[in-house]
Amino acid sequence: MRESLNISGHEIKAGENKTIDLPVSELYTHTSINMPVHVLHSKKDGPILFVSAAIHGDEINGVEIIRRLLKMKALNKLRGTLIAIPIVNVFGFLNHSRYSPDRRDLNRFFPGNESGSLTSWLAYLFMEEIVSKCTHGIDIHTGSNHRINLPQIRAYLDDPETERMAMTFGTPVILDADILEGSLRQAVKERNVPILVYESGEVLRFDEAAIKLGVRGVLSVMRAIGMLPKVRRKTDIQPVISDSSTWVRAPSSGIIKTKIKLGDRVSENSRIGIITDPFGERESEIISTASGIVIGSLKLPLVHRGDALFHVARFGSTKAAVDSVTAFRQEFEPEV
Ligand SMILES: [Zn+2]
Repeated sequence: MRESLNISGHEIKAGENKTIDLPVSELYTHTSINMPVHVLHSKKDGPILFVSAAIHGDEINGVEIIRRLLKMKALNKLRGTLIAIPIVNVFGFLNHSRYSPDRRDLNRFFPGNESGSLTSWLAYLFMEEIVSKCTHGIDIHTGSNHRINLPQIRAYLDDPETERMAMTFGTPVILDADILEGSLRQAVKERNVPILVYESGEVLRFDEAAIKLGVRGVLSVMRAIGMLPKVRRKTDIQPVISDSSTWVRAPSSGIIKTKIKLGDRVSENSRIGIITDPFGERESEIISTASGIVIGSLKLPLVHRGDALFHVARFGSTKAAVDSVTAFRQEFEPEV
């Protein structure tokens, strides 16, 4: 018989599915604050995977991805353990905010500290009660601050198991990206646990394509690492890896006019939009500083000089990336 799992004093026996409330803190109203965690602890040995969302409290796509994931009949055949944490930053989620009440960004405070700030404590709690029990992880994010992301995986591909998970997830592009200091991804990697970050969509909105691809991606990873039976999946999306990316910034302050959309191809030194004043008297050109695919872009058309406008990922073969994005659009956004 497989051993029970213990999370914050709650025992989850082999074969049990359980929602537990992980005590976080109290509000100054004397109300307790808990982090809701759902655990599927199967009787069969296998990997222990955490899937987390809303580390930034306004990034809600992942909450819906996890809700749909937990309804999947496929989970009846689970091996190992799935730990789902749809709302890590419970404070931010309540306030539709990226930040904690102490105005800190939780994803810069991992692995946290038991005696540190509220944010640091939350990071510590997550590492001790969740990550320390897991063999694999997937953390779900969206663009931030009026920016929207093309569905993409960010991962450290030097690790073969992480690379296998990344290729299986099935996003059109994968960013072999630098790791942010203090991010969950960094803290988990330092414990030698393979982790993917799935980025897609924008804050405070549900993006149907991003959600559908996210649910399928998590299930595909679970199949690849032996948590679910393998099935043959029909898709033309061949993930293409980018190992460098750059932000094209606003050359001046003003109002943006552009036809460039997420997933579009851009060439270095080409004009990708203009910035004008409210009278249309002064105009300056936005020139792409790289060749590649737009994987993130600003939606708010009002900018200051230097603001990040378009996130361009570079590829060995831009053509391969274009094909992958086209396949994604055909499969998930057929009406566009
Ligand atoms: Zn985020």
